[in-house]
Amino acid sequence: MSPTNTNTAERLAGYEQRYHELAAQLATIGLIHSGSITRRYTRCATPGCKCHADPPQPRGPYYQWTAKLNGKTVTRRLTENEAQLYQEWIDNDRQLRRLIQQMREVAAKATELKLKQAAIP
Ligand SMILES: [Zn+2]
Repeated sequence: MSPTNTNTAERLAGYEQRYHELAAQLATIGLIHSGSITRRYTRCATPGCKCHADPPQPRGPYYQWTAKLNGKTVTRRLTENEAQLYQEWIDNDRQLRRLIQQMREVAAKATELKLKQAAIP
């Protein structure tokens, strides 16, 4: 092999190793869920209520899950415990998508090198 080919093979091996490391991380991700969680406090319309006091004491926190399903926004009221679970799953989902994005980037470099190798007679 020429020095150029050796270099290409080494780079390819590096990308493939990185790719397999990322794939192994995928397997460790816990349950996933779509959507996002919001935490809100509310104030009522009653004058003199403590939620209008100084400092205000609004009601809450209230937790809500929101997601887009088939182009439609769907919401669900959650307890604090449910919100914690959802948040964990949603964080896992984000991590999963980040890993897949990294795999795509590494795969793009690796496949480009593979095609170059294949083009060498
Ligand atoms: Zn109030």
